Amino acid sequence: MSKKKRIRGVDYKQCQAEILSGSFMTFGPRQYERCKNKAEFIATEKRIPGPGMKKGSMSLCSHCKDILLKIKGIKYASIMKITAEPTGTVNVKIDK
Ligand SMILES: [Zn+2]
Repeated sequence: MSKKKRIRGVDYKQCQAEILSGSFMTFGPRQYERCKNKAEFIATEKRIPGPGMKKGSMSLCSHCKDILLKIKGIKYASIMKITAEPTGTVNVKIDK
């Protein structure tokens, strides 16, 4: 890697979660689709994935944020609520 740049930037406008399209009743392979909801939170991994790697961040809507917390647990990522500007994020404490 030559560029000191994030692989994927955070989209502050649209949730970056990818969800399976179709219902669970869909036959055949299902595709992942980008969530179309408005981004409301930024989730940042609490652990660095590996040596020399950066923590990943992604934007999430409140729905996908709840799913992330449910699947990964509150220790996996820190969640920040997006306020007006990308620089104006505020730490949100989540209890239990
Ligand atoms: Zn979402």
